[in-house]
Amino acid sequence: MLITSFYVIIFYLPLLLRLSNCNMLPVILVHGGAGDIMDSRVPAKIAGVKAAVKAGYAAFEKGGTVVDAVEAAVRIMEDDPAFNAGYGSVVNLEGEVEMDASIMIGSNLSAGAVTVVQDIANAISLARLVMEKTPHVLLAAHGAKKFAIDQGIPILPPGSLVTDTALEALENYKKYGTQLTEIAAVKNKGEVGTVGAVAVDAEGHVAAATSTGGITGKMVGRSSDTSVLGSGSYADDQFGAVSTTGHGETIMKFCVAHTIIKAMENGKSADQATIDTINAMTAKLNNTAGAITVSKTGEIGIAFSSKRMAWAYRQGNEVHYGIERGQHEKEPAE
Ligand code: ASP
Repeated sequence: MLITSFYVIIFYLPLLLRLSNCNMLPVILVHGGAGDIMDSRVPAKIAGVKAAVKAGYAAFEKGGTVVDAVEAAVRIMEDDPAFNAGYGSVVNLEGEVEMDASIMIGSNLSAGAVTVVQDIANAISLARLVMEKTPHVLLAAHGAKKFAIDQGIPILPPGSLVTDTALEALENYKKYGTQLTEIAAVKNKGEVGTVGAVAVDAEGHVAAATSTGGITGKMVGRSSDTSVLGSGSYADDQFGAVSTTGHGETIMKFCVAHTIIKAMENGKSADQATIDTINAMTAKLNNTAGAITVSKTGEIGIAFSSKRMAWAYRQGNEVHYGIERGQHEKEPAE
């Protein structure tokens, strides 16, 4: 009897130890871009971030990792024209879609990114392949497309990702320029928002992923913060994971994602680190941005200095979401 109990304990010990570490619920938190989002776009944005959370959580439920969860969430938003990523991306001065994406794993700081990539549906999955299949972190333009072909990723006919909304936004951009006037903001329907996701699993492993079409009327070949580690995405199991959105040149100058991680290293909560960093960036550089953060213990940080930013997360059986400042809705997960 004693011997049997001994063997039972030895057999189940690793499982028990694993479960005893599972003292927190996994979290998937996403954003759908910071900006002057028009009222008419709000419902599609909210529906899109909720769908992304659902896909990210489903990846967890299927036994996937944090990387599977953030990739799945971002892919949903890349495929949704309500967002500025994948299909529905904004266009450059020549009316073409050029996309950027990055992904990072907190356990070993593995990362992959692509910039100025054309004619593929899901830049985030190509970024993941750069991380997993190459000795590099960032592949650009022609080289990134060549790598996509080598990996068997379907190449879409040129122009497939361009929407009428994005072309109309380019026309308005050319008419109204870069002035951030009321008129430009209202007319500029194409500014539909970068997408991002961060996740933490029950064992405290984190990951981040971000994907964008950039900004309307950008020069051909312009790279954004979204493809730059420490600006658009960052993940480190010691602290947490961050994904950002907003004016890319400003975010890059302030290294927003890594600045949030550093603030957490210096003792701030995920929430405070995110709010303080976005406010500090806006105060110093007079431009707007937003960020989402999850800490290794599952704390959430959400902040934006723009008018709106759609966000959503699932923790346990509840989905939380919002888009206005101060808005925080809750509903049971489906
Ligand atoms: N950060 C993106 C860029 O500048 C745009 C955005 O987040 O909406 O390309």
